[in-house]
Amino acid sequence: MPWRGRSPTRIFKERCRCADNDYRMAPAFALISLVPGLAVGSFLGVVAARVPLRRSVLWSRSACMSCDTMLNWYDNIPLLSFAVLRGRCRHCRGAIPLRDPLVEVTSGLLFAGCVFAFGLTFYAFAAALFSAALVVVSATDLERRIVPNRVVLPAFVAVLVLRTIDSPSPEWLIASLGAAAFLLLAALTYPGGMGMGDVKLALLIGAMLGRTACVAMMLAVVLAFVPAAVLLARHRSGARKMAIPFAPFLAVGAVVALFVGDRLLDVYLRTLT
Ligand SMILES: [Zn+2]
Repeated sequence: MPWRGRSPTRIFKERCRCADNDYRMAPAFALISLVPGLAVGSFLGVVAARVPLRRSVLWSRSACMSCDTMLNWYDNIPLLSFAVLRGRCRHCRGAIPLRDPLVEVTSGLLFAGCVFAFGLTFYAFAAALFSAALVVVSATDLERRIVPNRVVLPAFVAVLVLRTIDSPSPEWLIASLGAAAFLLLAALTYPGGMGMGDVKLALLIGAMLGRTACVAMMLAVVLAFVPAAVLLARHRSGARKMAIPFAPFLAVGAVVALFVGDRLLDVYLRTLT
């Protein structure tokens, strides 16, 4: 196994060297990128709240979802405002959804992780965009069982273009279609388990990850198996109707594959041969 016996620091150093970056600067860059990550996360929270309701995300300022009062800048600072206001609107005292700080902190950490692992590169930019889409889709699927086309499809096109510019190859498109076909087959064999939204999400995952998309798919299936088995054991026949949102599992699998997919695939192929 190629990575056995090497410390995580060493692995990251090698990875950053691959990205033509000074690895000593990687932690500093990652720390700095937390700030735009949190700010983007704040916007992603708005996207996750408004897109399923078919409301515009661009042409109106942030407002409280309960009383519609426009938010001042100081009530809109990622994480900090939520903490200071103790999770309640300043005007109507309505609860600010926990989704907001969770989306912010997840985006911040993912952006920092992308910069830490891949340096200040074009690839890191694509990876951050990919992560942002995964965060939004996970939030909307958990909350409303929706994987919005308005998020997944533009993200798919953007990521496919970025990956093809960065590393011209038919791999990204082939992996997209392969991953989507795999989930489409699963959706057709077990209707009600998976939705067409998950199939479109697979397009996006394939475009970013290429061959390691299969790692993401396998991880997602394994991770989702546990809650599915629990549901089945508890509710027997009723479990079929209690669909589990699958997009968050795909997203977790995709993030793991983004950072260590090549190594996992390598280990898996070596154990086979
Ligand atoms: Zn309010």
